[in-house]
Amino acid sequence: MMSTLKIDMRSDTVTKPTAGMRQAIAHAEVGDDMNAEDPTVNRLEEVVCELLNKEAAVFACSGTQSNQMGVKVHCLPGDELLIEENGHIANFEAGGPAVLSGVSCRTIPGQWGMLDVDLLRGKIRADNQHLCTTRLVCVENTTNAGGGRAYPVDQLHRLGLWAHEQGLKVHMDGARLFNAVIAANSTAAEVCKHVDTISICFSKGLGCPMGSILVGKKDEIAKARRIRKLFGGAMRQAGIMAAACLYALDHHVDRMVDDHQNARVFAEMIAEIPGVIIDPDDVETNLVFFDVDRNLGNAGQLSAKLKQRGIGINASGSQRLRACTHLDVTQVDVEAAAQAIAECVAEGFSDVTGSVCGPYVRG
Ligand SMILES: *Cc1c(COP(=O)(O)O)cnc(C)c1O
Repeated sequence: MMSTLKIDMRSDTVTKPTAGMRQAIAHAEVGDDMNAEDPTVNRLEEVVCELLNKEAAVFACSGTQSNQMGVKVHCLPGDELLIEENGHIANFEAGGPAVLSGVSCRTIPGQWGMLDVDLLRGKIRADNQHLCTTRLVCVENTTNAGGGRAYPVDQLHRLGLWAHEQGLKVHMDGARLFNAVIAANSTAAEVCKHVDTISICFSKGLGCPMGSILVGKKDEIAKARRIRKLFGGAMRQAGIMAAACLYALDHHVDRMVDDHQNARVFAEMIAEIPGVIIDPDDVETNLVFFDVDRNLGNAGQLSAKLKQRGIGINASGSQRLRACTHLDVTQVDVEAAAQAIAECVAEGFSDVTGSVCGPYVRG
């Protein structure tokens, strides 16, 4: 079904390829990537290695796929990974670590979806036949369900150095890595300095139809290529998609500043609405989480009422909604969306039938 939304802030995955991106796709040079003969995929892998100052990279279909490749590169069945409790790898990848790698996730409550050394200390299991083996720390940057936060670079460096001292590997779920780099006012190489493998999504704020990449050391990525094949993600003339990704790296990174600015404008406007609970200072990137007072109704009802007005903002919990800015949403759009929320609150929405599409809705 075609979306009839006028302003779609449900996710940054809803972006459509621009005219320039479609041109790049149309003109892509291609070959069989499984023979490493696709010049555009090869170029993308090189460009991302340079950006992150890492040795090797492998193109993949989706962020879920490249995350799960990362888990399997580092872990064996019976191993355990440590992750913040809201982490995508543990919550939103269909149980991937258990199913695909025989790995259990030990989830740790953190702040804004982030971990630090103090939270990890004491969580590494002893060498004992009763226990699984702690092998990997997964960090998410920016955090999604954690609130769209970017790790402070020094916190990430401390974490990486400490983990390595303990003999652990570190994988970064960088689905929104460039949002994190911009928010931290840093570089991708600096952010990823003490991380072993990084996965990046091209289909979020970068605006591509699909695509992801896993980056790391030569031997890790060689292993990841075999795993990609196993997971059904090895492709042939994938250069048509890699061309979109290269185009996005050239044209859609710097502009993410606008997405962050628009998120902030939106947050400041809705903070003024009685019964809408948010501190605009908590908004660092393109994800805006806010709550509605129970006396007004629930988040699913507000989401449904907004949808009637052509505005897409999903409920992510009983009282919580998530709005997302991206390259198909302008400042005028976010102002109109905020205005629509004010009107819905003024009219009331507790009579609307709505549902929550967030993760924790049963029981
Ligand atoms: C979107 C996202 C992914 C990848 O999800 P896909 O559905 O495979 O695109 C991974 N991690 C985070 C934090 C995400 O937001």
